[in-house]
Amino acid sequence: MLEIADTLELERPQDKLIRRLCATLSGYLDQSQIDDCIHAYEFGAAAHSGQFRKSGEAYICHPVSVAISLAEMRMDVNGIMAAILHDVIEDTPVTKKELTKQFSAEVAELVDGVTKLTQIDSKSHAETQAENVRKMFLAMAKDLRVIMVKLADRLHNMQTLGAMPAEAKRRIARETLDIYAPIANRLGMSNIRHKLEALSFETMYPRRHAVLKNAVRKARGNRRKIVDTIESSIKNRMEQAGLPCEVVGREKDIYSIYQKMLNKKISLDDVFDVYAFRIFCDNVDACYRILGAVHNLYKPIPGRFKDYIALPKANGYQSLHTILMGPYGVPIEIQIRTHEMHRMAESGIAAHWLYKSEDDKTEKFQARANEWLRDLLEIQKSAGDSLEFIDNLKVDLFPQEVFVFTPKGGIIKIPRGGTVIDFAYAVHTDIGNACVSARIDKQLVPLQTKLENGVTVEVITASWARPNPLWLNYVVTAKARSSIRNYLKHFKQKEAISLGRRLLEKELQTMHLHLENIDEERIQAVLKVTSMHSLDELLEDIGLGNKMPFLIAKRLTQDNVHGAIKLDDNVQSQKTPLIIKGTEGMVINLAKCCRPIPGDSIIGFFNPGKGIVVHHCECRNSTEVRKKPINWLDVEWSQDAVGDFPAELRIEILNQRGSLATIASTISELDSNIENVTVVDQDDRVSVDLITLTVKDRVHLAQIMRRLKELSVVIKITRVKA
Ligand code: MN
Repeated sequence: MLEIADTLELERPQDKLIRRLCATLSGYLDQSQIDDCIHAYEFGAAAHSGQFRKSGEAYICHPVSVAISLAEMRMDVNGIMAAILHDVIEDTPVTKKELTKQFSAEVAELVDGVTKLTQIDSKSHAETQAENVRKMFLAMAKDLRVIMVKLADRLHNMQTLGAMPAEAKRRIARETLDIYAPIANRLGMSNIRHKLEALSFETMYPRRHAVLKNAVRKARGNRRKIVDTIESSIKNRMEQAGLPCEVVGREKDIYSIYQKMLNKKISLDDVFDVYAFRIFCDNVDACYRILGAVHNLYKPIPGRFKDYIALPKANGYQSLHTILMGPYGVPIEIQIRTHEMHRMAESGIAAHWLYKSEDDKTEKFQARANEWLRDLLEIQKSAGDSLEFIDNLKVDLFPQEVFVFTPKGGIIKIPRGGTVIDFAYAVHTDIGNACVSARIDKQLVPLQTKLENGVTVEVITASWARPNPLWLNYVVTAKARSSIRNYLKHFKQKEAISLGRRLLEKELQTMHLHLENIDEERIQAVLKVTSMHSLDELLEDIGLGNKMPFLIAKRLTQDNVHGAIKLDDNVQSQKTPLIIKGTEGMVINLAKCCRPIPGDSIIGFFNPGKGIVVHHCECRNSTEVRKKPINWLDVEWSQDAVGDFPAELRIEILNQRGSLATIASTISELDSNIENVTVVDQDDRVSVDLITLTVKDRVHLAQIMRRLKELSVVIKITRVKA
């Protein structure tokens, strides 16, 4: 059990804190749960032993203080344990696994969640991306208790900035204002929010803070009499009306006074020119009755009444607001709310579930949080304003997006399901176009890897790399999609121009001419006749198979460019063939019906809009088109055509266990890959399969077929050429 020194002199700060924590916990937890928390304390104290805060206190004082502020909000037992242990994974050798063993998976998960947020904190340097950091926080924390621990952690750190260098203090304060206070606000936890704002303001602008604090104190003295007068007349009136309630004079906090002066450009006097009160009662009905009574006491200022009970604010805030014209002509601001609404306004999301009946189980925690958020959405819908908040909320807590880091700590937002390729294009189009692989948290990964929240992505690029049409299957962002399409289109255009030039030159050569020898005038005349704007455009059209090179060559060479072209039946006979490598890219395609490979006799067809399709000479499709000489051209394989070319085999094998495996291993032994296998026919004895495999050329294919024929399971084997 807990060891506490007997004498007061020997009591250490941590002893005092743990005693205070236990006292607070005893207000809502049973003894066995408190014992669990003490166990967490002893474990944490041992893990942090030898570590000290800047103040000189033992480190464990910090997590216990964090736990105390959460206990004041009635955080459940696992949340309290996680708060006590929140820094052990980050700052001591203790692992998540060890926490699971010592405590529970739930506690370990919470501590791990806090650790991840802490790491984000130290990763993100860019101050301009506060909104993204906030979203990342909310998206990362699968359990809202993680956020609450983190907020309480930040609050205690702000309270104990003490001896830090001024520069560091200011940075932390700025971050608190940008990230943490808005999150607290988003979750309706105005209590924590105001504390964070006040501490940050004091840290960032100590002199302004001092001036305002002094002014507030002075004003309080001067106004005392008026405040008392108004307060007692309201109280009297409520008593007369038989409306039990509590009237409290309200002082605005210094940071919101500062903001008001800043935003509305008003002087300090104007800020203090308002007297503010809160009236608490037991139920909604009483709120409206009290409203009636105060309107009866002092005249309301028209247009200043707001009913946030019927139409709550976006973060769930409820109250009636009104402004009255008080004695001596001073305006009086009044907020009327139930005690429960007040608790809600102070603790927000925390109040909603932490204060619920005590037999509620922890497992329902998240469910209740979600319920709260759903309610919020409903409220929002019926209220019909600040739609932007709904969007943010959806992004934040029902995440449609993931947030990842660049190597320099910038944050990039990617839709859920997005891959490394989306990330690369989000960073820059040039990075996307040149990416070849990536490292996620220093591990090499393929480009189609889906991204998760909080990881750091480093894209690896290469000068030779270019987008692959297959990427379109892996991207989810419009930017990546359109950039890839765009690139491919331009790339295709470049290829088409170059192919068009080759084809036209080839035609001209048969007439012993070169494109460069042709008069510019004549070229212009042909462009006009063909309605083309430039030579490149004409060449592209030829390359894409839309214009026959033979016809263009004729027009360029015959005397009358407008004249009809006489079609010679044997125009093709004298021509030199077009030499291809088969790997040109997008405008020279190998037909899928016959799958020609180097060494095959081949023939090319113009395929309007797509370029040239190369078929095997024996392909059934080729005999048809061949009847029209103008549509085809002689093609030959280049001597140095290298690559993996798909070919198709029809193979009859014995239908028995392992026969396909034997074939597959034989094929791979011969340095070939199987791309696809389709069973076309099968009975008890025989199976007929179509196998698509990659080969270097005809010789390679012949070698493979010979070896396959030798296998006992193979009955018959033929190459498919149509
Ligand atoms: Mn901490």
